[in-house]
Amino acid sequence: MRPIYLDNNATTRTDPAVVDAMLPFFSEQFGNPSSAHVFGAEVGEAMKQARRSLQALIGAAFDREIIFTSGGTESDNAAILSALETQEGRDEIVTTSVEHPAILSLIEHLEKSRGIKVHRIGVDRHGRLDLEAYQQALGPRTAIASVMWANNETGTIFPVEQLAKWAHAAGALFHTDAVQAVGKVPIDLKATEIDMLSLSGHKLHGPKGIGALYVRKNVKFAPLIRGGHQERARRGGTENAPAIVGLGKAAEFAMAHMEEERTRIRALRDRLEQGVLQQIGHCFVNGDDQNRLPNTSNIAFEYLDGEAILHHMNKAGVAASTGSACTAGSTEPSHVLKAMNVPDVGLRGAIRLSLSRENTDEEIERVLDLLPEIVAHVRTLSPAWQERRVNAARAG
Ligand SMILES: *Cc1c(COP(=O)(O)O)cnc(C)c1O
Repeated sequence: MRPIYLDNNATTRTDPAVVDAMLPFFSEQFGNPSSAHVFGAEVGEAMKQARRSLQALIGAAFDREIIFTSGGTESDNAAILSALETQEGRDEIVTTSVEHPAILSLIEHLEKSRGIKVHRIGVDRHGRLDLEAYQQALGPRTAIASVMWANNETGTIFPVEQLAKWAHAAGALFHTDAVQAVGKVPIDLKATEIDMLSLSGHKLHGPKGIGALYVRKNVKFAPLIRGGHQERARRGGTENAPAIVGLGKAAEFAMAHMEEERTRIRALRDRLEQGVLQQIGHCFVNGDDQNRLPNTSNIAFEYLDGEAILHHMNKAGVAASTGSACTAGSTEPSHVLKAMNVPDVGLRGAIRLSLSRENTDEEIERVLDLLPEIVAHVRTLSPAWQERRVNAARAG
């Protein structure tokens, strides 16, 4: 039987129709879009279409507000570095303690190498941002506030529209890493004050190695990669035309599937989550139940090691992860769950189940059949769990 894929926040399968749309741009339509002849023109036209599809998906007012990049990580880096370069007299960054490493490791580097002052805003037990601390951290030295739209580990959604307004009131720019939000929740940038937004193709059934940075019209931008005049001189280098066309197709499909994401996928996720909570016990959900992506469930199993559960799930044909793929393999507990003050008994036992439009009812039922046995088995191997049982028995 084909393994069940529940790790869609790490990456999604490229939609076969996206692959089909890309293929001609590896062969017949190989032109350089900057070329003035017919070979270039037809590729340029396809890229224009892709930009419009992406514009529609995120509700940008103008298609030229979109810069194609190599992915979410590059977009995040470009946004932060541009703000520090263009915001004269401002050298501080406001961000959160639960950002993706694409933001956190860059900012840590800037802190160490340039002495940039960083305010990392904390979250509560449900992953909700400390809004008061955020407002207090903003000031006349803030170059940019960067807060993710939705968390990749827990799915928690932050109130970015409001956060952008507060950043502007302090004269700062506002950027959001929306890599997990785009395609899963409706986004209408023209109705917000968000200045910059990062997205990535492979998180929405597009190809890997392609993404975009939205930069609002009239926001000053300093390129990360200088070279030719591609992307209106905001990102040098010959465009990855096949991937850009693929991202455009993926954006079209994401628009078409948005309703399904909000209904069918959410219902599947809820069925899975409720089933686990009811059948297994001594486990709890991490994240903001009220404001959460429809596809994500982060469940902590007390006294257990998440990696051990995942290992046995993998053997049984179910693929998931502990959270961020970038920290997989390390035994350090997740920085997101630590920031949420998740109790010690659950800190190492968390697994992330992330669904997509490709998951079926049958798959979820199968996981619900398998998981109780797997957890029971891992519990027999867990000294912490056994000790807890003995203590509980003694306590009567
Ligand atoms: C995956 C991810 C990224 C990185 O995107 P890449 O295209 O893989 O570079 C950044 N931020 C978040 C929240 C992500 O989930």
